[in-house]
Amino acid sequence: MLDKKLKNRIYTIALIALLCYTMVHTVYIYFTNPESDTVYSDIVAIHYIDMGQADATLIQGENFNMLIDAGEYKGNVINYLNYVGVETLDYVIATHPHTDHIGNMSEVIKQFEVKNFIMPDAVHATASFEHMLKALDNSKDTNVIQAEAGYKFESGPLKFTLYGPISQEYENLNNYSVVVRLLAGNTSFLFAGDAEKEVERELLESGYDLSADVYKASHHGSSTSSTPAFVEAINPLLAIISCGKDNSYGHPHKETLETFENYGVKVLRTDKNGTIIVYSDGEEISYGTER
Ligand SMILES: [Zn+2]
Repeated sequence: MLDKKLKNRIYTIALIALLCYTMVHTVYIYFTNPESDTVYSDIVAIHYIDMGQADATLIQGENFNMLIDAGEYKGNVINYLNYVGVETLDYVIATHPHTDHIGNMSEVIKQFEVKNFIMPDAVHATASFEHMLKALDNSKDTNVIQAEAGYKFESGPLKFTLYGPISQEYENLNNYSVVVRLLAGNTSFLFAGDAEKEVERELLESGYDLSADVYKASHHGSSTSSTPAFVEAINPLLAIISCGKDNSYGHPHKETLETFENYGVKVLRTDKNGTIIVYSDGEEISYGTER
């Protein structure tokens, strides 16, 4: 049994929600359950966009848009943002410089007004990374922020805190991933890019409040991440895994799925469910999936 905070409002189907966004550009949309006449007033909608074996997450609040990662070059992130009516991105986070996260970032910077851009102090010798830096250089009004644990920002009821990167230097680029926790009313969300177990250990030792109703499984559900101790500390109702169908890495790994099963965490996957949208009214979490 799922906690009663998690409601499957799947009957709304994502498409209806997307059409609503397109029309009014706000998440303050009232959904009416045709069965119970319950009225919902959401304060945030989080779109875990199906990008294949890559990552892109859109967070929408009232007059607020934020993008975490942009998927591979020529992925569908631009189309998706246009589809839901995004024009301005208040914050963009490039979690770390791997192409499955920043491949299309230069296009995002070029095609949308990006107010704030957060990235770790990590470099990668790829065309995607060079193009991203060039696009930032040309985007004079974008405020570029170097990610640092403890950095905070907010928009209305949405409060964001960066938990990582904690250390200055890592051997593995994945561990530079920007870690962010969102508090939306009394509900919470955790995003940790592709951070692996070394970072999870640091986070457990950091004393940060890791609890989150919804956890985006790090590193596409790889067994390098989502260690039992970390999942236990987060204690999520729902885990979202972003991975491609039949990907060559075998993501998500069975160890990760077993950990979620052992802790009674419901799992949604972009390879199976397509794009997943999670809503919060500040007290309860609900979601719709593309399939
Ligand atoms: Zn990745």
